[in-house]
Parts: sequence; C-alpha cells; structure tokens
Amino acid sequence: MKIIFFLLILFSPLYACAWGFFGHQRINRLAVFTLPPEMLRFYKYHISYLTENSVNPDKRRYAVKGEAPRHYIDVDIYNKFYNDSAVFKIPRYWNQAVEKHTEDTLQAYGIVPWHVNKMRYQLIEAFKQKNIQRILRLSADLGHYIGDANVPLHTTENYNGQLTNQIGIHGLWESRLVELFSDDYDFFVGQAVFLKNPQLSIWESVTNAHLALDSVLKFEKELSNRFPLDKKYAFEERNSILGRTYSLDFSKEYHQKLNGQVERQMRAAIKMVGNFWFTCWVEAGQPDLDGLLNDNWKENEKKEEDLPIEPLPTQARPHEGMGMKIKNCCENNSYLAYYRKNLPKDKNKK
Ligand SMILES: [Zn+2]
Repeated sequence: MKIIFFLLILFSPLYACAWGFFGHQRINRLAVFTLPPEMLRFYKYHISYLTENSVNPDKRRYAVKGEAPRHYIDVDIYNKFYNDSAVFKIPRYWNQAVEKHTEDTLQAYGIVPWHVNKMRYQLIEAFKQKNIQRILRLSADLGHYIGDANVPLHTTENYNGQLTNQIGIHGLWESRLVELFSDDYDFFVGQAVFLKNPQLSIWESVTNAHLALDSVLKFEKELSNRFPLDKKYAFEERNSILGRTYSLDFSKEYHQKLNGQVERQMRAAIKMVGNFWFTCWVEAGQPDLDGLLNDNWKENEKKEEDLPIEPLPTQARPHEGMGMKIKNCCENNSYLAYYRKNLPKDKNKK
C-alpha cells in the first residue's frame, strides 16, 4: 500500500489549478472598503465587477503578447550587477532602468513595478474622462498587478522552487495557505492614503516581498526534510479530479512557521490597491463619481472581458498570481500537462 502511495506521489502533479481565483478576488474586494465616501459609493456599486475581473490579467497571460512579464520581476537576476543587493538598487524609473539594462532584459525578467505605474497614468486618464468602463477595467487590472507585486515568489527567478528542489511551493504559498487560513486573517487595513510617489511605493512593495523570500524557501525546506512524502502530500478531489496537494498538517506547520507572513502580504496588497485607486482619483482632480452611477451600464458590464482561455504555449511561464490559477485549466488539462513535462527544466525556457 505504501509503495502504491509513494508511486502516486512521484507521478502525480501537484494541484496547479482548480483552487479558484481566491486571493486576487479577495484583495480587490477588500480594497474597496479602504476608500473615502466620495469613491466608496461608486466602487461598492461595482464591487462584483471589481472582484470577478480581478483575474483578467491572468486569463490574458498566455493569450496576449507581452502580458506575462507584467506579473513579476526576477530581482535576483540583477544581483550580479549590484553586489547582491539588486532589490535596493535597480533603477526605480522605467527610462533609467532601460538605459541601464536595456528593454529586452527588463521584459525578459519581468516588469511588474513599472507596469503598475504605467497603469496608474491610464487610470488617471480614465477618471478625467469619466469613462466608467475604463475606470473599472483599469482598477480591476491594477489591483491584480499590485497583488502580484506583493508575493515573494513573484520577485525571483526561483519562482516555483524549481532551482532548489521545492517545486510546487508557488501554489502552496499563494493558493493553498490563502484558501486554508485567510478566513482568520485580520483584513482591517484602515483608510487609503495619498501616495506622494507611487512609483517608489510600488517598489517598496516589491522590496518587502523580496525580503520575505528567504523564509518562504527556508521553512519549506526545513519541513520537507522532516516530513516523509506520504505525510507531506495528500490527495484531494476537485471538480471530480483526484490530484496531489500539500497535506493539511504540512500546510499548517508551514503557515505557523511563516508567522503571519501571508496575512501581512495580503494586508499590504489590499492597502496598496486602495492607495493606488485613491491616488489616481486625486491626481485626476477628484471627479464626481456619484454622477457616474449608471444602472444601464451595469447590466451590460458582465459581458466584457470574457476572454477565451487559450491553451498554454510551451514557452509560457507557469507563474500564477496570488491565489490565482488559469480558469478551467483542469478541464482541458493543458496546465497540468505543462507542469508535468516542463517544470524541472523550465529554467532554460525564458
Ligand atoms: Zn498575475
């Protein structure tokens, strides 16, 4: 029996999907409640849209050219230029970064902090134009990228533990733990504040996330050395598919060792999303949003952004968002197949 279980463990993929869009949805939803009354009415009115569409950037990820690098930045790639302290020294502004490293390099290793700032300008414009559709779409997208910027494993080339024999850690940290334990988190993060320098603020998020990376990897390693395989993993059924995931015991101990880290990062993401929405609105001259409440538009809004799910190209990087998976990926199995075939050697795939 034990041998069969061991073989199952060896040859079953870790759940790479099917846990839902939990983390991003929660972040966008809760960020609404950080807003001042002048924004709150409008954002609350559209809270379902903002929640459901928080996952659009991940849906586009493999379908839209140039989308993938917007979700991460492999900070450690740059350590060779900066005596191992790249996270503090990479140029914060796009033009300076291009000058120093070239645009090709930046695109190759991820652009999340610069992309967030680019989206900020687009959202300011949407507010100025009082374009409801754009305000909501950009707010939802911006929430997604800010969420990603706060995930430690979105700041490293070892994004799924593939370089340290910890494959699967990405989903463990940002999906498994979030889904198991975030109901008990304290999500009261206070009111959104105006960011004097949003570009530096999002870099602060990236820096904090990157500094947390050490313990993300270290504690998983420690526990993996202690847990036999049949205790580390468990099988669970999701959407009628039996798949391997981290056991409850392993997840619990890992979560405990992380000592509130997932909660801190989620809280930071929620607050930062609120801060960005609020700052864009202020920078646009605080347009009257109550005048934009429009029932007719709300009726139609569900139809937009209903993007098709493309099968994964082999060059794709399986880099999920916080709590995020590609919708329906289990149904067509392309994502799992990709994991099985490509992850161990995927470092060469960039
Ligand atoms: Zn993402």
